[in-house]
Amino acid sequence: MTNWKHSDLLRANPGASEHREHSEAMYLTSSFKFENAAQAAEYFGRQGADYIYSRFSNPTTAMFNQRMALLEGAEAALATASGMAAITAVVMALCQAGDRVLCSRNVFGATIQLLSGHLAKFDIQVEYVNGNRLDRWRQAAMNSKAGKVALMIVETPSNPMQEVMDLAGLAQIAQESGALLVVDNCFCAGCQQPLRFGADLVVHSATKYPDGQGRVLGGSIVGSKQLLMEKLYPFLRASGPALSPFNAWVISKSLETLPLRIKAHSATALQIAQWLEQQPAITKVWHTALPSHPAHTLAMQQQAGLGGGLITCCLSGGKEAAWRFMDALRLFSITANFGDAKSIVAHPASTTHSRLTAAEQAEIGLDDSIVRLSIGLEAAEDLQADIEQALAN
Ligand SMILES: *Cc1c(COP(=O)(O)O)cnc(C)c1O
Repeated sequence: MTNWKHSDLLRANPGASEHREHSEAMYLTSSFKFENAAQAAEYFGRQGADYIYSRFSNPTTAMFNQRMALLEGAEAALATASGMAAITAVVMALCQAGDRVLCSRNVFGATIQLLSGHLAKFDIQVEYVNGNRLDRWRQAAMNSKAGKVALMIVETPSNPMQEVMDLAGLAQIAQESGALLVVDNCFCAGCQQPLRFGADLVVHSATKYPDGQGRVLGGSIVGSKQLLMEKLYPFLRASGPALSPFNAWVISKSLETLPLRIKAHSATALQIAQWLEQQPAITKVWHTALPSHPAHTLAMQQQAGLGGGLITCCLSGGKEAAWRFMDALRLFSITANFGDAKSIVAHPASTTHSRLTAAEQAEIGLDDSIVRLSIGLEAAEDLQADIEQALAN
């Protein structure tokens, strides 16, 4: 179960105007006027909810933040321009030179590029832990000679292999070692609340399910008021990866339907995954709601029994068969996004994960016969018929 109330999410709006608008107003303004010089000085002098400048305060962005906090059952949320801006801000605000970051091997490609390619020069060391083996995480976290672990970063389920991390187990290790557990919750926005299992922070690419129609980029950092206001807010205010109020409005309106959308994405994905498991041309299917998923029981506990809209499958016939299948699909777009109302197909080995070596791909169980489907909001029968004709192609 998730502990938000959809009715609260639908109406949350700290920035309502005096005009009694029913759909929320959008405040496209970079700054806010003061009555006089004294008021300007007063507002600048105190840290509060007073609107000054949209890099760090805007009523439309405040609405987005309140809705993201409700979605995650959290005290607070802070908006960023993209999912990567959220992850960058978390690392920059919470780590210092000499710290270590533990990250699961199976995470978003740009996260690996950020951690491996850009943090070493600040003397922040990253170590990748393979799989959901709590003993390995514990060993890495407790290796005090190597330096303090500031953050443990995971994604669950992971992209594209749908590896499931034991959030409560990892939260305990984080607590014992003095680290903070950060969960990238992109795959299960609206059906999984990592903070309930002990995570300290959740990061989102609001570009994915929160927008849900592939229109705008956005990001969010969700957690306790204290952690966000003491550590993240000053960093975001000074460094400026702000979400545009326009994008905040677009995504806030989409959040009104996210609880229903994620149920529909998940139900259609499960129906198609079950059918795919019976197709001779498909050698393996990964979706956490399938009983055949190795972490099915744990995943269903963490994901409110839903599982999300992504299916990973392996075709017999390797890359050639995978590409032929993708090119023959009519209701699936080949595009670098997921969580859209329109279904999407991707070939991770040659696109999102092409910067990994063959050995690194093998380590996470990826090869070029694997295709990832993001199931949209079309009718399941239509999608199934389309997949059937593409497999027969
Ligand atoms: C897309 C994505 C991101 C990055 O989000 P952007 O909004 O594209 O910056 C981070 N993590 C995961 C799991 C993603 O899918």
